[in-house]
Amino acid sequence: MALITCPECGNSISEHAPMCPHCGFPKKTTGTDFRDPPRKLTLKEKMFILSIAAGLLLFYAWASGRLFG
Ligand SMILES: [Zn+2]
Repeated sequence: MALITCPECGNSISEHAPMCPHCGFPKKTTGTDFRDPPRKLTLKEKMFILSIAAGLLLFYAWASGRLFG
């Protein structure tokens, strides 16, 4: 069992430990046993962001129309 050095506290921790037992630092390993694919927005989240953006745009148009129209 190999030991690596915690980047946070410098203590030796097991390479298989999900986090440092000394400081709780979550280990992002370069090993193959811990896959962390890049975060991708789901369709639902995209629609949510789009609806908020559209709502803001509509509100801005409405507000500026009220103020300057
Ligand atoms: Zn640590």
